[in-house]
Amino acid sequence: MKRVSILNHVIGPIMRGPSSSHTAGPHRIGRIARDLLGEKPLRADFFFHPSSSLAVCYHDQGSDLAFVTGLLERELTDGAFHVMFDEARAEGLELSFSLEPFDEADHPNSALIRLGGTGGASVTLHARSVGGGSIEIASVDGFPLCLVGDSHELLVEVEKGFEAAALERLTAWDAKAERIEGATSTLLHGSSCREPGESLLESLRKDPGLRNLRRARPVMHPLCGDPLFADTAELLALADGEGWSLAEAALAYEGRLLGLSREELMQAMDRRLAVMIESVRQGLEERPAMRLLEPTAAKLFAAERGGKTFLGGPHVRAAARALAAMHANGGSAVVCAAPTGGSAGVIPAVATTLMEDLGLSREATVKALWAAGAVGLALDRRSTFAAEVCGCQVEIGAAGAMGAAAVVEAAGGSASQACDAAATVFQNVMGSVCDLVQGIVEIPCHSRNAALASQAFLCADMILGGYENPVPLDETIDAVDSTGRMLPEELRCTARGGLALCPSARAMRRRP
Ligand code: SF4
Repeated sequence: MKRVSILNHVIGPIMRGPSSSHTAGPHRIGRIARDLLGEKPLRADFFFHPSSSLAVCYHDQGSDLAFVTGLLERELTDGAFHVMFDEARAEGLELSFSLEPFDEADHPNSALIRLGGTGGASVTLHARSVGGGSIEIASVDGFPLCLVGDSHELLVEVEKGFEAAALERLTAWDAKAERIEGATSTLLHGSSCREPGESLLESLRKDPGLRNLRRARPVMHPLCGDPLFADTAELLALADGEGWSLAEAALAYEGRLLGLSREELMQAMDRRLAVMIESVRQGLEERPAMRLLEPTAAKLFAAERGGKTFLGGPHVRAAARALAAMHANGGSAVVCAAPTGGSAGVIPAVATTLMEDLGLSREATVKALWAAGAVGLALDRRSTFAAEVCGCQVEIGAAGAMGAAAVVEAAGGSASQACDAAATVFQNVMGSVCDLVQGIVEIPCHSRNAALASQAFLCADMILGGYENPVPLDETIDAVDSTGRMLPEELRCTARGGLALCPSARAMRRRP
């Protein structure tokens, strides 16, 4: 079972638009690659398989900049993000990006990375960005393993015959340390939520058979505990017994997993809410520059306020706010992935509509976000947030489902009502494809975020008003997953199907 954290994987990371798979994920990979190299990088060569999603959009979506920002140990929110190649040059780092087939390419967002450092060190790794900013380092110097960035990692490569002493030292730190056999050496891999002590590192460095000692720090909250429940059915049984809302269940889960207090968790979510509020403000007030679309959020918002839309009301204002947050995302501003960059408009729109139109307090809004997180958690554990794997239903569809749960929580509904509202949204978007025009996260992403922000309120009201959901959330998610995997590659984030092929879409002029 995947170990999923709401703060690490569902509502977050705080990132730079436009795409969590193509900016947040590469940034995390870059950070870990730099750690594994163990010294300042002098040369970095990136390879993407020609038929992959990364090959199509690594430049347009800023993956190249994000990889380099990570390699330079800079934050993705760094104001110099857009000139990170200049920063790299200034630090003497040479870069290349190539489209070439490589044997390890087993995911639409696979990358092969070769690094050389100023002191002569080198490392080769195969990494995947697997959706919503989640990553997997799948091999290091040809040794197969899995690093996901939620632990301190130690990789100890030793000569054959010298494994026993190093493994004994490593298992004192990680009882589950693994042994991976190579042709001429063995890799010992340990990981822990505790930082390795200097005495352990010193003793490993003195090992007579040592070839290489690599370490990597976590790029997100380290996971210290076990999950409180395995699925939504268990969550609901627990919530029923304890009298918890969906948000309370989510807080209990996350507290145990990360070893954080309720207050720390609420503060961490409040920081995400602050980024969401700012992204909506930017989109409404600053007309962010995008590649294909003109910013229209402010126009729609003003039209609704001026009585120029037909029905108007909170549903339309939520749609305008979702457009606004997506405009900020499209302009490479700092946003909160919720659950992804391409769907970073829905939850901010729901949250700000609850606060500004319906008078929900800041604390209650933060709690509503925890309820949203519980739904994203259910999806990520059973499926994926990667549109490259399952289409737009696991990005904007997921955000809409999460938003519906947030609205039910805000309305004082039960955990099961919140899950039913979420399931209803998923059922409405089953099979929705990822057909982004020109490989840019704008069309149809922005209007779909607007529609799903509105639908979140509708489906919450349907459940609160008496509609009975026939298929529970977990089963619905399984159907979403299997449907997504039946979609042809052309409709999974490759810009080779759907709207992306329409003559008008292809003819659109993109701004530099
Ligand atoms: S169409 Fe949906 S899944 Fe594809 S890039 Fe846009 S938001 Fe993401």
